[in-house]
Amino acid sequence: MSSARTPFAWAMVLVIGLALVLVLPINGYLMNLLMQASTYAIAVLGMTVVLGYTGQINIAQAAFFGIGAYGVALGTTSLGLPFFVALALGAVVAAFFGLVLGGSTLKLGGHYLAMVTISFQEILTLVLTNWISVSHGPDGVANIPRPRLGALALDTSPHYLAVCLVFLFVAAGAVAGLKSSRLGLAMQSVRDNELAAGVIGIDTYRVKIIAFATSAFLGGLGGGLFAGAFRYISPDQFAFDDSVVLLTMVLLGGVDAAIGAVIGTALLILLPEWLRFLKQFYLAVYGLAVILIMVFMPQGIWGFLSGLFRRALPIPAGPLAPLVLGEAVESAEVLLAVEGLAKHFGGLRAVDELDFEVVRGRVHALIGPNGSGKTTTLNLLSGIYKPTAGRIRLAGRDITGLAPHVLARAGIGRTFQNIRLFHSLSAFENVLIGAGRPGESGQDGESRRQRALSALDFVGMVARAHVPVASLPYGHQRLIEIARALAANPTLLLLDEPAAGLNLTEKQNLVALLRRLRGHGLTLLLIEHDMDLVEQVSDRITVLNFGRRIADGTPLEVLRHPEVVAAYLGEVAEDEAA
Ligand code: ADP
Ligand code: MG
Repeated sequence: MSSARTPFAWAMVLVIGLALVLVLPINGYLMNLLMQASTYAIAVLGMTVVLGYTGQINIAQAAFFGIGAYGVALGTTSLGLPFFVALALGAVVAAFFGLVLGGSTLKLGGHYLAMVTISFQEILTLVLTNWISVSHGPDGVANIPRPRLGALALDTSPHYLAVCLVFLFVAAGAVAGLKSSRLGLAMQSVRDNELAAGVIGIDTYRVKIIAFATSAFLGGLGGGLFAGAFRYISPDQFAFDDSVVLLTMVLLGGVDAAIGAVIGTALLILLPEWLRFLKQFYLAVYGLAVILIMVFMPQGIWGFLSGLFRRALPIPAGPLAPLVLGEAVESAEVLLAVEGLAKHFGGLRAVDELDFEVVRGRVHALIGPNGSGKTTTLNLLSGIYKPTAGRIRLAGRDITGLAPHVLARAGIGRTFQNIRLFHSLSAFENVLIGAGRPGESGQDGESRRQRALSALDFVGMVARAHVPVASLPYGHQRLIEIARALAANPTLLLLDEPAAGLNLTEKQNLVALLRRLRGHGLTLLLIEHDMDLVEQVSDRITVLNFGRRIADGTPLEVLRHPEVVAAYLGEVAEDEAA
């Protein structure tokens, strides 16, 4: 199906679905199941955003669902608000709490974040149960009205189900569309590799907060509609168990796609009905079925199905523009100045009182034995670590201690010693995420796509554009990582052992690539173990040992320096003497 026809096809599905709901004689019991499934599915779509796209654990979705439900229940009964106003209010309040919870991801991740969300869930249950004067306590809220739309009363069950389905369709469409948007790709980059996302300019904290708020908003929206569906709610409907159910739904259907959320929700609501004939064994079989699906389809049902039909997208046709890199300036200007830089880990001085300068347009190598502080220096320059002491200046501007995404936007690009790609995305998507710097011209989608392709072409990988990076050989992954950094048009490119793990041909290609980059006037700071390569491409070399600089100069000066020979090339010198 062509992408232009997709929205039309979905609109048809919606119209047919609504017609069926309004025309078919659906009994009250099935009606309740359908209303429960459609309102739950909206909340589960929130889980797709926060867990599926962004990789952040949230075991409090029932709490957001509850906030939305109480928004409608209390908004309409206690405050006398119109239904849709109360619905919007509940969803916005839920989103606010999502924002606050997302804020805790600044310091927390993984298990700790899971604990925080569980605590939030428990607190909400306590508040709903005990703040009787407002929430009506364990008795819950009854007689919740259903909406009117002008002269149209939407209070019969078929009408109300139609309302829920329209909301579900819009939510599912928005969540599906989000995935391939700029924000959606940023979310997936945070999920796949947060460190790498930061150094290509993604404000990872902001992305996580947006994901939590979006997820909570959808949770609140689903909950608000749920309250109208059943006209009665009580605190026990929004407890920890229910959060686990919502989590199971998204995992079961497939976390990575909107349709997975809908499939998982429908299945977990319908499965108990289908299994009812099993009488007292039903719970055991239900549990077993869920476990079996999870074990044999770890990507969820939709992940499994879509994997069967996955086709590589065609490579965009048309002529490729050459990659534009920086402004070639022929001056001996100092681009990067490092003064008294230090990073201590407890008693270990990984980097200590380090001084060096990188001249614009040159290739500067940073060498030294294993553990001498090279990678730590790069981590300081790219903002992953904050220095214990010292100053870093880029083109005269003090950039000490700035966050990775801020430094990326200021023009510092990097690659990692252990390749850090966004492993579930294609080569093209990996490079696209980093393409273009905010504030530069050419930020529209088309220019960014062009730039990403040009960067892939520059490293000779454009023919692999649509291959998932995880299935590329190691040497190609290194090149994709370089292309990703180049796509952001860096002023200074930091490369951490780019030749590690490459074979001889690949190393020769890398030398040619580095020379082409230098030819374009790009400034490189290169960490490398391969001395042949360093000699072939470097204009200047700084040598580290135990975090301190022991030599600095041209390759000729440095490689003959007695201290360097002793500390670093000792083994080589001995080999030659033997
Ligand atoms: P190189 O890249 O030159 O091989 P590194 O910069 O990776 O060396 O490491 C320098 C020293 O700092 C090593 O002794 C290493 O164990 C230590 N180190 C690096 N990162 C950390 C960290 N996050 N916590 C504690 N020690 C670290
Ligand atoms: Mg290292």
